[in-house]
Amino acid sequence: MKSNILMILLSVSALSCAQETPQVKQVSKMKPKTGLKGIKVVNTDDPVCHMSTAQYLKDTAVYKGKTYGFCSDLCKKEFRKNPVKYALK
Ligand SMILES: [Zn+2]
Repeated sequence: MKSNILMILLSVSALSCAQETPQVKQVSKMKPKTGLKGIKVVNTDDPVCHMSTAQYLKDTAVYKGKTYGFCSDLCKKEFRKNPVKYALK
């Protein structure tokens, strides 16, 4: 029983120690994904959610030689799951 209490005390002090550790790693400014703005995509709207790719382009996927733009990684994954459904005719 005594050892149990000791273990709890130790883990608690370890936790508080971790919390007090100053965060040295400063997250620098989120780097926007560069290079996407110049990319020409064949679709003006995200084929999955229909948001404007001109405004919300975050990711691209190439399908049958065409570059499709997506607002997010999620939409790209959805497209990849079923490209026939979403690809331009
Ligand atoms: Zn989308």
